[in-house]
Amino acid sequence: MDRPAIPNAAERLAFVQAEIRKAALANSRKPEDVTLVAVSKTFGAEAIVPVLDAGQRVFGENRVQEAKAKWPALRERYPDIELHLIGPLQSNKAKEAVSLFDAIHTVDRPKIAETLAAEIAKQGRKPKLFIEVNTGGEEQKAGIAPDLADAFIKTCRDRYGLAIEGLMCIPPFDEPPAPHFALLQKIAKRNGLEKLSMGMSADFPSAIAFGATHVRVGSAIFGERPHP
Ligand SMILES: *Cc1c(COP(=O)(O)O)cnc(C)c1O
Repeated sequence: MDRPAIPNAAERLAFVQAEIRKAALANSRKPEDVTLVAVSKTFGAEAIVPVLDAGQRVFGENRVQEAKAKWPALRERYPDIELHLIGPLQSNKAKEAVSLFDAIHTVDRPKIAETLAAEIAKQGRKPKLFIEVNTGGEEQKAGIAPDLADAFIKTCRDRYGLAIEGLMCIPPFDEPPAPHFALLQKIAKRNGLEKLSMGMSADFPSAIAFGATHVRVGSAIFGERPHP
């Protein structure tokens, strides 16, 4: 008897792309207004190359050191790669982050905003910047508290001269994500921000319904990550 073939990474990528398209159209949005950030954390070049060969160019990593070890070599082979930092950023890694990443999704406190502003001026590189909002108010999670978000956005703009493009959130894993997506959309709207980084493998169609412009999808493309 034939067993169903296990889909490979290129097939899983095509499935995710089709789901993005479907969710966008169902919400009267243009599919090309939703960027797929393929989250390749924990996966090595042998897993990433098939996804590059299938045409994907935007990737997300959550650790500066891991990205630094993996991506420079891949970039030599695929010069048009766009790399996004989606994990927490420490001030002592800001220099490397600005030189390595094209977008940083996790600006979440004045100290990191100040350090990034200094590095951006020094290096003449301008990664796209997103502010992470801790929509669930979770103590252990990074992100600015929702009730401090307006003031922090203003501080980033006026005090540090940062061109903030949008907001990012990671809803609590044990709650329905929709209210968190709605809250992030509301904060973005009242602050004149157009980009929303939200939605992961389990919930990106719902995020698209609430206006996500960047969905961060890992396991649905690369398969399950080994648990530490
Ligand atoms: C790992 C990670 C993702 C991707 O998660 P999946 O459930 O594998 O799609 C998205 N966003 C952030 C911030 C992550 O750390």
